[in-house]
Amino acid sequence: MKLDSRQLRYLTAEDWRVLTAVEMGSKNHELVPTVLIAQIAGLRGGSGVHKSIATLAKSGLVAKIKNAKYDGYRLTYGGLDYLSLNTLRKQDTVFSLGNQIGVGKESDIYVVADPTGKQLVLKLHRLGRISFRTVKANRDYLRNRTTGSWMYLSRLAAMKEYAFMQVLKREGFPVPEPIAQTRHTLVMELIDSFPLRSIDNVSNPLKLYGELMDLIVRLAKVGLIHGDFNEFNLLIKEDPVTKKSTPILIDFPQMLSTTHENAKWYFDRDVNCIKRFFSRQFKFTSDEPGPFFEDAIKDTDKNKRLDIEVEATGFSRKMAKDLDRFVEAVGFQNEADEDTAEVQDDPDSHEVDQDYSEDEEEDDDEEEEETNSQTAHEDQTEEELAEQ
Ligand code: ADP
Ligand code: MG
Repeated sequence: MKLDSRQLRYLTAEDWRVLTAVEMGSKNHELVPTVLIAQIAGLRGGSGVHKSIATLAKSGLVAKIKNAKYDGYRLTYGGLDYLSLNTLRKQDTVFSLGNQIGVGKESDIYVVADPTGKQLVLKLHRLGRISFRTVKANRDYLRNRTTGSWMYLSRLAAMKEYAFMQVLKREGFPVPEPIAQTRHTLVMELIDSFPLRSIDNVSNPLKLYGELMDLIVRLAKVGLIHGDFNEFNLLIKEDPVTKKSTPILIDFPQMLSTTHENAKWYFDRDVNCIKRFFSRQFKFTSDEPGPFFEDAIKDTDKNKRLDIEVEATGFSRKMAKDLDRFVEAVGFQNEADEDTAEVQDDPDSHEVDQDYSEDEEEDDDEEEEETNSQTAHEDQTEEELAEQ
Protein backbone atom coordinates (compact mmCIF):
# COMPACT_ATOMS: atom_id res chain seq x y z
CA MET A 1 0.00 0.00 0.00
CA LYS A 2 1.10 3.50 -0.73
CA LEU A 3 1.92 5.86 2.06
CA ASP A 4 -0.73 8.54 2.24
CA SER A 5 -0.52 10.99 5.08
CA ARG A 6 -3.94 12.57 4.59
CA GLN A 7 -5.56 10.07 6.92
CA LEU A 8 -3.22 11.14 9.71
CA ARG A 9 -5.28 14.24 10.27
CA TYR A 10 -8.55 12.39 10.59
CA LEU A 11 -7.50 9.94 13.24
CA THR A 12 -8.71 10.87 16.71
CA ALA A 13 -6.60 10.53 19.83
CA GLU A 14 -8.60 7.41 20.59
CA ASP A 15 -7.86 5.91 17.16
CA TRP A 16 -4.16 6.44 17.80
CA ARG A 17 -4.43 4.77 21.18
CA VAL A 18 -6.06 1.77 19.59
CA LEU A 19 -3.49 1.60 16.76
CA THR A 20 -0.70 1.79 19.33
CA ALA A 21 -2.42 -0.96 21.31
CA VAL A 22 -2.46 -3.21 18.22
CA GLU A 23 1.24 -2.58 17.78
CA MET A 24 1.95 -3.41 21.40
CA GLY A 25 -0.20 -6.50 21.26
CA SER A 26 1.70 -7.61 18.14
CA LYS A 27 4.67 -8.24 20.38
CA ASN A 28 3.15 -11.54 21.40
CA HIS A 29 0.38 -12.12 18.89
CA GLU A 30 0.38 -12.24 15.12
CA LEU A 31 -3.36 -11.65 15.46
CA VAL A 32 -4.10 -9.40 18.42
CA PRO A 33 -7.37 -10.39 20.16
CA THR A 34 -9.88 -7.54 20.14
CA VAL A 35 -10.33 -7.88 23.91
CA LEU A 36 -6.60 -7.41 24.38
CA ILE A 37 -6.60 -4.34 22.11
CA ALA A 38 -9.32 -2.82 24.28
CA GLN A 39 -7.44 -3.71 27.43
CA ILE A 40 -4.11 -2.24 26.30
CA ALA A 41 -5.80 0.88 24.96
CA GLY A 42 -7.46 1.28 28.34
CA LEU A 43 -10.83 1.61 26.65
CA ARG A 44 -12.46 -1.40 28.26
CA GLY A 45 -15.60 -2.63 26.59
CA GLY A 46 -17.43 0.39 25.24
CA SER A 47 -18.23 1.09 21.64
CA GLY A 48 -15.22 3.43 21.36
CA VAL A 49 -12.78 0.61 20.65
CA HIS A 50 -14.97 -0.89 17.97
CA LYS A 51 -15.49 2.45 16.32
CA SER A 52 -11.73 3.09 16.27
CA ILE A 53 -10.99 -0.40 14.99
CA ALA A 54 -13.51 0.09 12.21
CA THR A 55 -11.85 3.38 11.22
CA LEU A 56 -8.38 1.82 11.28
CA ALA A 57 -9.48 -1.24 9.32
CA LYS A 58 -11.18 0.93 6.70
CA SER A 59 -7.94 2.84 6.23
CA GLY A 60 -5.98 -0.40 5.96
CA LEU A 61 -3.93 0.27 9.09
CA VAL A 62 -5.08 -2.94 10.76
CA ALA A 63 -6.52 -6.03 9.11
CA LYS A 64 -8.35 -9.22 9.87
CA ILE A 65 -6.88 -12.60 9.15
CA LYS A 66 -8.70 -15.21 7.16
CA ASN A 67 -10.14 -18.14 9.13
CA ALA A 68 -9.08 -16.67 12.40
CA LYS A 69 -10.06 -18.74 15.41
CA TYR A 70 -10.89 -15.69 17.46
CA ASP A 71 -11.84 -12.07 16.94
CA GLY A 72 -8.75 -9.97 16.42
CA TYR A 73 -6.67 -7.75 14.15
CA ARG A 74 -3.11 -7.52 13.01
CA LEU A 75 -1.05 -4.47 12.24
CA THR A 76 -0.40 -3.85 8.52
CA TYR A 77 2.62 -2.17 7.01
CA GLY A 78 0.34 0.82 6.46
CA GLY A 79 -0.32 0.93 10.20
CA LEU A 80 3.35 0.67 10.96
CA ASP A 81 4.05 3.51 8.48
CA TYR A 82 1.50 5.71 10.22
CA LEU A 83 2.84 4.99 13.68
CA SER A 84 6.31 5.89 12.44
CA LEU A 85 5.17 9.10 10.77
CA ASN A 86 3.34 10.07 13.92
CA THR A 87 6.43 9.50 16.06
CA LEU A 88 8.55 11.54 13.64
CA ARG A 89 5.93 14.28 13.65
CA LYS A 90 5.69 14.40 17.42
CA GLN A 91 9.46 14.73 17.78
CA ASP A 92 9.43 17.56 15.20
CA THR A 93 11.60 15.64 12.75
CA VAL A 94 9.02 15.54 9.99
CA PHE A 95 6.30 18.07 9.37
CA SER A 96 5.01 17.07 5.96
CA LEU A 97 5.25 14.23 3.48
CA GLY A 98 6.22 14.95 -0.11
CA ASN A 99 6.75 12.89 -3.23
CA GLN A 100 8.01 9.39 -3.47
CA ILE A 101 11.41 9.53 -5.17
CA GLY A 102 12.46 5.93 -5.06
CA VAL A 103 10.88 2.52 -5.11
CA GLY A 104 13.57 0.07 -4.23
CA LYS A 105 12.94 -3.63 -4.13
CA GLU A 106 13.07 -3.54 -0.39
CA SER A 107 12.38 0.07 0.46
CA ASP A 108 10.35 3.16 -0.40
CA ILE A 109 11.95 6.60 -0.43
CA TYR A 110 10.01 9.83 0.14
CA VAL A 111 10.98 13.45 0.31
CA VAL A 112 9.67 14.98 3.54
CA ALA A 113 10.04 18.41 5.10
CA ASP A 114 10.95 19.34 8.65
CA PRO A 115 9.06 22.12 10.51
CA THR A 116 11.36 24.78 9.01
CA GLY A 117 10.59 23.58 5.48
CA LYS A 118 13.95 21.92 4.97
CA GLN A 119 13.69 18.89 2.72
CA LEU A 120 14.82 15.52 4.01
CA VAL A 121 14.59 11.91 2.92
CA LEU A 122 12.40 9.31 4.62
CA LYS A 123 13.35 5.71 3.89
CA LEU A 124 10.88 2.95 4.78
CA HIS A 125 12.25 -0.57 4.76
CA ARG A 126 10.03 -3.19 3.15
CA LEU A 127 11.67 -6.53 3.62
CA GLY A 128 9.61 -9.33 2.20
CA ARG A 129 8.17 -7.32 -0.66
CA ILE A 130 10.12 -8.84 -3.49
CA SER A 131 9.07 -12.08 -5.00
CA PHE A 132 11.58 -14.75 -4.24
CA ARG A 133 10.48 -17.13 -6.95
CA THR A 134 13.41 -16.30 -9.17
CA VAL A 135 15.95 -16.07 -6.41
CA LYS A 136 17.90 -18.99 -5.06
CA ALA A 137 16.21 -18.50 -1.75
CA ASN A 138 15.93 -20.64 1.28
CA ARG A 139 12.23 -21.19 0.81
CA ASP A 140 11.53 -22.74 4.18
CA TYR A 141 12.98 -19.72 5.87
CA LEU A 142 10.74 -17.45 3.80
CA ARG A 143 7.58 -19.51 3.96
CA ASN A 144 7.58 -19.50 7.72
CA ARG A 145 7.79 -15.77 8.02
CA THR A 146 4.78 -14.01 9.46
CA THR A 147 3.89 -10.38 8.81
CA GLY A 148 5.25 -9.55 12.24
CA SER A 149 8.57 -11.13 11.55
CA TRP A 150 8.95 -9.27 8.24
CA MET A 151 8.27 -6.08 10.15
CA TYR A 152 10.86 -7.09 12.72
CA LEU A 153 13.44 -7.64 9.97
CA SER A 154 12.54 -4.32 8.31
CA ARG A 155 13.09 -2.66 11.63
CA LEU A 156 16.48 -4.32 12.02
CA ALA A 157 17.44 -3.12 8.54
CA ALA A 158 16.53 0.47 9.48
CA MET A 159 18.38 0.26 12.80
CA LYS A 160 21.47 -1.21 11.20
CA GLU A 161 21.47 1.32 8.38
CA TYR A 162 21.11 4.18 10.85
CA ALA A 163 23.85 2.89 13.16
CA PHE A 164 26.29 2.63 10.26
CA MET A 165 25.40 6.03 8.85
CA GLN A 166 26.09 7.60 12.22
CA VAL A 167 29.60 6.21 12.60
CA LEU A 168 30.45 6.74 8.93
CA LYS A 169 29.34 10.36 9.03
CA ARG A 170 31.28 10.96 12.23
CA GLU A 171 34.41 9.52 10.64
CA GLY A 172 34.11 11.86 7.69
CA PHE A 173 32.85 9.40 5.08
CA PRO A 174 30.75 10.89 2.27
CA VAL A 175 27.31 9.66 3.40
CA PRO A 176 24.04 11.54 4.03
CA GLU A 177 23.64 12.91 7.53
CA PRO A 178 21.44 10.56 9.56
CA ILE A 179 18.68 12.47 11.37
CA ALA A 180 16.27 10.06 13.03
CA GLN A 181 15.18 6.45 13.15
CA THR A 182 12.04 4.78 14.37
CA ARG A 183 10.64 1.31 13.72
CA HIS A 184 11.30 0.35 10.06
CA THR A 185 12.08 3.91 8.96
CA LEU A 186 14.91 6.40 9.00
CA VAL A 187 15.22 10.05 8.12
CA MET A 188 18.34 11.49 6.54
CA GLU A 189 19.72 14.45 4.68
CA LEU A 190 18.45 14.86 1.10
CA ILE A 191 21.37 14.79 -1.30
CA ASP A 192 20.75 17.08 -4.25
CA SER A 193 22.33 14.82 -6.81
CA PHE A 194 22.04 12.35 -9.64
CA PRO A 195 22.60 8.66 -9.12
CA LEU A 196 25.78 7.54 -10.87
CA ARG A 197 23.76 5.18 -13.08
CA SER A 198 22.04 8.11 -14.80
CA ILE A 199 25.27 9.89 -15.68
CA ASP A 200 26.41 9.30 -19.27
CA ASN A 201 29.48 11.43 -19.25
CA VAL A 202 32.10 12.41 -16.73
CA SER A 203 34.85 14.85 -17.55
CA ASN A 204 37.49 12.80 -15.78
CA PRO A 205 36.53 9.13 -15.39
CA LEU A 206 39.99 8.24 -14.07
CA LYS A 207 39.58 10.65 -11.18
CA LEU A 208 36.09 9.47 -10.24
CA TYR A 209 37.17 5.83 -10.55
CA GLY A 210 40.10 6.55 -8.23
CA GLU A 211 37.83 8.22 -5.70
CA LEU A 212 35.44 5.30 -5.66
CA MET A 213 38.18 2.71 -5.26
CA ASP A 214 39.71 4.83 -2.49
CA LEU A 215 36.34 4.84 -0.77
CA ILE A 216 36.13 1.02 -0.89
CA VAL A 217 39.65 0.79 0.55
CA ARG A 218 38.99 3.44 3.21
CA LEU A 219 35.94 1.48 4.36
CA ALA A 220 38.00 -1.71 4.59
CA LYS A 221 40.57 0.09 6.72
CA VAL A 222 37.91 0.74 9.35
CA GLY A 223 36.69 -2.84 9.12
CA LEU A 224 33.81 -2.44 6.67
CA ILE A 225 32.60 -3.63 3.29
CA HIS A 226 29.55 -1.93 1.82
CA GLY A 227 28.28 -5.06 0.10
CA ASP A 228 26.21 -3.29 -2.57
CA PHE A 229 28.67 -0.70 -3.84
CA ASN A 230 27.35 0.12 -7.28
CA GLU A 231 25.98 2.82 -9.57
CA PHE A 232 22.58 2.77 -7.83
CA ASN A 233 23.97 3.46 -4.38
CA LEU A 234 26.35 6.24 -5.35
CA LEU A 235 24.91 9.71 -5.74
CA ILE A 236 26.93 12.31 -7.58
CA LYS A 237 26.59 15.70 -5.96
CA GLU A 238 27.81 18.81 -7.74
CA ASP A 239 28.88 21.87 -5.80
CA PRO A 240 26.85 24.77 -7.25
CA VAL A 241 29.81 27.16 -7.01
CA THR A 242 32.96 25.16 -7.69
CA LYS A 243 31.18 22.63 -9.94
CA LYS A 244 33.25 19.98 -8.26
CA SER A 245 31.38 16.67 -8.03
CA THR A 246 31.56 14.37 -5.06
CA PRO A 247 30.29 10.82 -4.83
CA ILE A 248 28.01 10.17 -1.83
CA LEU A 249 27.47 6.61 -0.70
CA ILE A 250 24.01 5.42 0.45
CA ASP A 251 22.11 2.22 1.33
CA PHE A 252 23.76 0.36 4.21
CA PRO A 253 21.61 -2.49 5.54
CA GLN A 254 23.81 -5.17 3.99
CA MET A 255 27.09 -3.67 5.24
CA LEU A 256 29.46 -6.31 6.59
CA SER A 257 32.67 -6.68 8.53
CA THR A 258 36.04 -7.36 6.95
CA THR A 259 36.19 -10.29 9.37
CA HIS A 260 33.13 -11.92 7.79
CA GLU A 261 34.00 -15.36 6.44
CA ASN A 262 33.23 -14.30 2.86
CA ALA A 263 34.60 -10.80 3.24
CA LYS A 264 37.03 -11.10 0.35
CA TRP A 265 34.27 -12.24 -1.98
CA TYR A 266 32.09 -9.24 -1.09
CA PHE A 267 35.01 -6.85 -1.34
CA ASP A 268 35.85 -8.13 -4.83
CA ARG A 269 32.23 -7.93 -5.87
CA ASP A 270 32.08 -4.25 -4.84
CA VAL A 271 35.28 -3.52 -6.77
CA ASN A 272 34.13 -5.42 -9.83
CA CYS A 273 30.73 -3.71 -9.89
CA ILE A 274 32.48 -0.39 -10.35
CA LYS A 275 34.91 -1.78 -12.92
CA ARG A 276 32.07 -3.25 -14.94
CA PHE A 277 30.04 -0.06 -14.79
CA PHE A 278 32.94 2.17 -15.83
CA SER A 279 33.77 -0.08 -18.72
CA ARG A 280 30.16 -0.22 -19.91
CA GLN A 281 29.13 3.38 -19.27
CA PHE A 282 32.30 5.40 -19.82
CA LYS A 283 34.34 2.91 -21.85
CA PHE A 284 36.96 3.28 -19.18
CA THR A 285 39.25 0.52 -17.94
CA SER A 286 41.93 1.21 -15.38
CA ASP A 287 45.52 0.19 -16.12
CA GLU A 288 46.04 -0.53 -12.47
CA PRO A 289 44.99 -3.90 -11.11
CA GLY A 290 43.11 -4.15 -7.82
CA PRO A 291 42.48 -2.83 -5.26
CA PHE A 292 42.95 -6.11 -3.42
CA PHE A 293 41.31 -7.15 -0.20
CA GLU A 294 44.53 -8.37 1.41
CA ASP A 295 46.23 -5.01 0.83
CA ALA A 296 43.23 -3.03 1.99
CA ILE A 297 42.99 -4.74 5.37
CA LYS A 298 46.74 -4.83 5.96
CA ASP A 299 46.83 -1.51 7.73
CA THR A 300 43.48 -1.63 9.47
CA ASP A 301 43.47 0.81 12.35
CA LYS A 302 42.88 -1.36 15.41
CA ASN A 303 41.53 1.59 17.32
CA LYS A 304 39.04 2.44 14.66
CA ARG A 305 37.11 -0.69 13.89
CA LEU A 306 33.67 0.62 13.00
CA ASP A 307 32.32 -2.90 12.53
CA ILE A 308 33.05 -3.60 16.19
CA GLU A 309 31.81 -0.22 17.31
CA VAL A 310 28.42 -0.66 15.69
CA GLU A 311 28.02 -4.01 17.39
CA ALA A 312 28.30 -2.19 20.71
CA THR A 313 25.42 0.17 19.91
CA GLY A 314 21.69 -0.55 20.14
CA PHE A 315 22.06 -2.79 17.14
CA SER A 316 22.92 -5.88 19.13
CA ARG A 317 24.68 -9.07 18.14
CA LYS A 318 21.39 -10.97 18.29
CA MET A 319 19.81 -8.48 15.90
CA ALA A 320 22.77 -8.69 13.56
CA LYS A 321 22.42 -12.46 13.56
CA ASP A 322 18.69 -12.34 12.79
CA LEU A 323 19.28 -9.99 9.89
CA ASP A 324 22.23 -12.03 8.65
CA ARG A 325 20.01 -15.10 8.50
CA PHE A 326 17.71 -13.21 6.17
CA VAL A 327 20.62 -11.98 4.05
CA GLU A 328 21.96 -15.51 3.81
CA ALA A 329 18.56 -16.92 2.87
CA VAL A 330 17.80 -14.48 0.06
CA GLY A 331 20.63 -12.02 -0.07
CA PHE A 332 19.90 -8.34 -0.23
CA GLN A 333 19.30 -7.91 -3.89
CA ASN A 334 22.34 -6.68 -5.64
CA GLU A 335 20.80 -3.86 -7.59
CA ALA A 336 23.27 -4.14 -10.41
CA ASP A 337 21.70 -7.52 -10.97
CA GLU A 338 18.27 -6.31 -12.03
CA ASP A 339 16.74 -9.53 -13.27
CA THR A 340 17.14 -11.62 -10.17
CA ALA A 341 14.02 -10.45 -8.45
CA GLU A 342 10.81 -8.64 -9.06
CA VAL A 343 8.72 -6.40 -6.93
CA GLN A 344 5.71 -8.14 -5.54
CA ASP A 345 2.96 -6.52 -7.54
CA ASP A 346 1.04 -9.55 -8.59
CA PRO A 347 -2.02 -9.77 -6.35
CA ASP A 348 -2.39 -13.48 -7.03
CA SER A 349 1.00 -14.29 -5.71
CA HIS A 350 0.97 -14.75 -1.99
CA GLU A 351 4.47 -15.92 -1.40
CA VAL A 352 5.27 -13.02 0.82
CA ASP A 353 3.49 -10.46 2.91
CA GLN A 354 0.03 -9.49 1.84
CA ASP A 355 0.31 -5.84 2.73
CA TYR A 356 1.74 -4.98 -0.60
CA SER A 357 -1.21 -5.90 -2.74
CA GLU A 358 -2.96 -2.64 -3.47
CA ASP A 359 -6.41 -4.04 -3.00
CA GLU A 360 -5.87 -5.35 0.47
CA GLU A 361 -8.02 -2.78 2.17
CA GLU A 362 -11.16 -3.87 0.41
CA ASP A 363 -10.35 -7.53 0.68
CA ASP A 364 -10.35 -7.56 4.40
CA ASP A 365 -10.74 -11.11 5.60
CA GLU A 366 -11.60 -12.60 2.23
CA GLU A 367 -8.17 -12.61 0.64
CA GLU A 368 -5.85 -12.98 3.57
CA GLU A 369 -3.90 -16.19 3.45
CA GLU A 370 -2.18 -16.10 6.72
CA THR A 371 -2.95 -18.64 9.32
CA ASN A 372 -3.93 -17.85 12.78
CA SER A 373 -1.13 -17.91 15.26
CA GLN A 374 -1.22 -17.02 18.87
CA THR A 375 2.42 -17.60 19.59
CA ALA A 376 5.12 -15.01 19.94
CA HIS A 377 7.39 -14.45 16.96
CA GLU A 378 10.43 -16.56 17.44
CA ASP A 379 12.73 -13.66 17.13
CA GLN A 380 10.97 -10.85 18.88
CA THR A 381 12.06 -10.05 22.36
CA GLU A 382 10.69 -7.57 24.80
CA GLU A 383 13.69 -5.32 24.55
CA GLU A 384 13.73 -5.29 20.76
CA LEU A 385 10.16 -4.19 20.47
CA ALA A 386 10.27 -1.58 23.18
CA GLU A 387 9.33 1.88 21.97
CA GLN A 388 12.30 3.72 20.60
P1 ADP B 1 17.13 0.69 -1.76
O1 ADP B 1 17.48 -0.12 -0.57
O2 ADP B 1 15.71 0.56 -2.13
O3 ADP B 1 18.07 0.50 -2.88
P2 ADP B 1 18.37 3.31 -1.42
O4 ADP B 1 18.76 3.79 -0.08
O5 ADP B 1 19.44 2.83 -2.32
O6 ADP B 1 17.24 2.19 -1.23
O7 ADP B 1 17.55 4.45 -2.16
C1 ADP B 1 16.88 4.25 -3.40
C2 ADP B 1 17.02 5.49 -4.27
O8 ADP B 1 16.46 6.62 -3.61
C3 ADP B 1 18.47 5.87 -4.56
O9 ADP B 1 18.97 5.21 -5.67
C4 ADP B 1 18.37 7.37 -4.74
O10 ADP B 1 18.02 7.67 -6.05
C5 ADP B 1 17.26 7.78 -3.80
N1 ADP B 1 17.81 8.22 -2.51
C6 ADP B 1 17.99 7.48 -1.39
N2 ADP B 1 18.50 8.20 -0.38
C7 ADP B 1 18.67 9.44 -0.85
C8 ADP B 1 19.16 10.67 -0.27
N3 ADP B 1 19.58 10.73 0.98
N4 ADP B 1 19.17 11.77 -1.05
C9 ADP B 1 18.73 11.71 -2.33
N5 ADP B 1 18.27 10.60 -2.93
C10 ADP B 1 18.23 9.47 -2.21
MG1 MG C 1 19.99 1.13 -3.19
